[in-house]
Amino acid sequence: MQHVAFIGLGNMGGPMALNLQNKGFAVSAFDLSAEALARLQAAGARAASSAADAVAGAEIVISMLPAGKHVEGLYLGEDGLFARLPKGTLVIDCSTIAAASARKVAEAARAAGLNMLDAPVSGGTAGATAGTLTFIVGGEPADLERARPLLEAMGKNIFHAGTSGAGQTAKICNNMLLGILMTGTAEALALGVKNGLDPKVLSDIIAKSSGRNWALEVYNPWPGVMENAPASRGYRGGFGTDLMLKDLGLANEAAREIELPLALGALAEQCYRRFSADGHGGLDFSAIIQSYVEELSV
Ligand code: NAD
Repeated sequence: MQHVAFIGLGNMGGPMALNLQNKGFAVSAFDLSAEALARLQAAGARAASSAADAVAGAEIVISMLPAGKHVEGLYLGEDGLFARLPKGTLVIDCSTIAAASARKVAEAARAAGLNMLDAPVSGGTAGATAGTLTFIVGGEPADLERARPLLEAMGKNIFHAGTSGAGQTAKICNNMLLGILMTGTAEALALGVKNGLDPKVLSDIIAKSSGRNWALEVYNPWPGVMENAPASRGYRGGFGTDLMLKDLGLANEAAREIELPLALGALAEQCYRRFSADGHGGLDFSAIIQSYVEELSV
């Protein structure tokens, strides 16, 4: 049985680690939240007392943390995990972070004799729970082959985007488009409902017309249109507004570095920045519709 350490058991990491544990991997889990850790322990995983404890004896380490500063904090420096992992350990970071940060961490991994992949995911918490995530991988093809059985236990589509950092670049392109699509979908639904349409009827119409998109069809922001969407549970869980804001920031920063003007990406970032500044950063990102329809505020 392969021994895997899993660090970061939040909305995404929790169900991903559960799938590994339920599909025959021996998981040692760690999170700063005792509650998140207890859920994994209840499923038979070993609850570690620290990240260093989690990686003891692990052949593969997976992290699923909020942002680049958490990933760099976990792996780099004198107290970081890279200083203690045995050579040849495979490290897979599934968090969404800047490509430059992913390359920096991968370089430090190589210097320590470790193998590293950036493997951010798409598919949301529903995909994490169902084990149908899309993995977007940057790194050496041989390392991807070594990771494949684990990625297949957590996901359905596995793409090799290129060398270290390429997974992150592809991921922020996707998420920038998602942020634009969610804001646009919220505007269209607000316009229709404020003109007397039923949100479900309007959603059904657009889903079979040229405005169809993932935010509308899989993750509808109007409460009650889709039973399993975060909108129907008070915008709790799911993909946090502040995480979307982080990803839009990463996309616009990457564009600035190459002096590429991005009109809609910049606008979407400002929409989410306003919404977060108004105190809604902890709500699911589909709650952006509350900017247009105040009655939907919870
Ligand atoms: P989350 O905030 O729900 O979970 C993050 C977890 O990391 C928390 O449980 C926190 O306690 C833990 N943590 C933070 N620092 C830690 C540390 N030093 N050691 C151990 N645990 C630590 O976030 P999430 O929604 O699970 O997202 C994780 C990553 O996945 C983010 O980069 C996000 O952008 C990306 N992502 C999220 C979604 C989504 O739908 N939620 C989808 C795709 C990608």
